[in-house]
Amino acid sequence: MSADCLFCRMASGEIPVPKVHEDDLVFAIRDINPQAPTHVLVMPVAHVPSAAALTDADGPLLARLFSVAARIAAGDGLEAGWRLVSNVGPDGGQTVPHLHLHLLGGRSMHWPPG
Ligand code: AMP
Ligand code: ZN
Repeated sequence: MSADCLFCRMASGEIPVPKVHEDDLVFAIRDINPQAPTHVLVMPVAHVPSAAALTDADGPLLARLFSVAARIAAGDGLEAGWRLVSNVGPDGGQTVPHLHLHLLGGRSMHWPPG
């Protein structure tokens, strides 16, 4: 845990937030500024700064992040499809330095993203 990290403080319960999902490795919350009808952030409980910090040893964590995202998408009725995005660093548009997947769905997505 990183004491000054917003998402670590949510993971520990120091900042209370409704969790869409929570297990030993990952948890998920609804984004405070949704960009689509479904906009959920799926992230590790442990502090990982971004995808740039991942190693081969994080395979189980990555599998869990993706499988939880798929389960939430199904639960939100996103049969028509959905998108996963993980921003990395300033050019990637990352504003919270704790790895998270944006799960976006409920509308048609555009490509390329802005
Ligand atoms: P990123 O810009 O990719 O690092 O994504 C960070 C996301 O966290 C943004 O989409 C924000 O809207 C979201 N966010 C920031 N603060 C909160 C909060 N208190 N609760 C839920 N989502 C948040
Ligand atoms: Zn953190």
